Amino acid sequence: MNDNLHTAQFFERSEKLQACIHCGLCLEHCPTYLVTGEEMSSPRGRIYLMKAVEEGSISATDEMFVSHEGSCVVCRSCETACPSGVQFGILMEQTREIINERAGVSLFREFIYTKLIGSPILTRILQVPIAALAITRLARLFEKTFDRRSFPLKRFASSIALLPDQVPFPHRRNSVYRSTAAKRGSVGLLIGCIGDLFTARINDATISVLNKMGYDVHIIPEIACCGALSAHAGFGEHARELALKTISALESATIDYYIANIAGCGAMLKDYPKLFEGHPEYERATRVRGTIRDISEFLLEFHEDDLLKMNLMLPKKKTIGYQAPCHLYHGQQIKDAPAELLKLVRNTDVFAFEENEICCGSAGTHNIEHPEMGEALLERKMIIITSRTPDIVATANAGCLMQLQLGVRDRDLPIPVMHVIEVVNSAMSGSIA
Ligand code: SF4
Ligand code: SF4
Repeated sequence: MNDNLHTAQFFERSEKLQACIHCGLCLEHCPTYLVTGEEMSSPRGRIYLMKAVEEGSISATDEMFVSHEGSCVVCRSCETACPSGVQFGILMEQTREIINERAGVSLFREFIYTKLIGSPILTRILQVPIAALAITRLARLFEKTFDRRSFPLKRFASSIALLPDQVPFPHRRNSVYRSTAAKRGSVGLLIGCIGDLFTARINDATISVLNKMGYDVHIIPEIACCGALSAHAGFGEHARELALKTISALESATIDYYIANIAGCGAMLKDYPKLFEGHPEYERATRVRGTIRDISEFLLEFHEDDLLKMNLMLPKKKTIGYQAPCHLYHGQQIKDAPAELLKLVRNTDVFAFEENEICCGSAGTHNIEHPEMGEALLERKMIIITSRTPDIVATANAGCLMQLQLGVRDRDLPIPVMHVIEVVNSAMSGSIA
């Protein structure tokens, strides 16, 4: 282990590695193994390689190690399948931290994961060229002109393909959105560092639903980013800095609960205790965890009866196929709540897609950093979606929404892709066609 790394982050790492009993029950649940069929691209294979580095039999800069650990989408499907309780997510984040430390990182990656992520100013500046590309339709023109799968700069082409058609400018810093019904309480909302840039409509819908349910919604300006993207990419120190800022802000906020509508961010907030294992801030991280709820979880836990009484209904009958985000299904073990929430809306026929628990290939920034794997997983997902042809595809995470939108657009399918909370909001306001 590298002495420069934060030793607390590696508390009991070898014990965590020893928990794997090599049974292989996780293999058929691992998306990268399903695509490649290679043992070293499976959870068991990756743990084998991690142990080899710990024992010194291979180097952390070994090309095979770097490539197989790098191709993991960190979906944590293996955690759900594992009978031995292997904590794969945190092991993988530590592994990437070790690789970054020993093999080094490009200035570009360092800038993205330690400077851009978590900086409201830089995010706002980035929005200008992104919005220009989207609004002038140049992103779509590029997409139509070049096949992104064979374009020489695949990462660039994949980034362009994911751009939405409209990019609103952030307007939410330091804001409180007041309840529009009899007041029940106050909640905070994590709008996301990139989330409000690409999918502000999800935050709009979440605020609207919570306001109608009687909550003041606070956007806490000190919380710029939960740290998830940096942690997954192995920039642990920056992730812990962002996490500590978030913890301090939540400790002083006058809210009852802190709501996430992006599954990866919700999982990260709930996993802060793992990030601070063996660290003096562990207790603070654990206390804050109790206030975190995913939006579907929150509404079902506290307001299922209220929503039933509201008689939510779509004007026309719609079939809705639900695709679970990995960081909700596996990371937070929230498997049914989003579909259950959708079922409270009348005039719908809600079902979960086959292989619902397998990653769609988005995985934060993985589809940009590893476009081939992202495309292979998206293709697998779209075969399932096209075989069911729902009226609406619903999911519960911004990244999955953008990835599935790309898959739908590639195939010219007239199927809207919506966040679950957008469907609920539409049913409340009668705005869905
Ligand atoms: S986190 Fe997902 S991709 Fe990575 S090893 Fe586990 S199941 Fe496979
Ligand atoms: S299921 Fe768990 S114990 Fe079995 S091989 Fe996979 S990670 Fe190891």
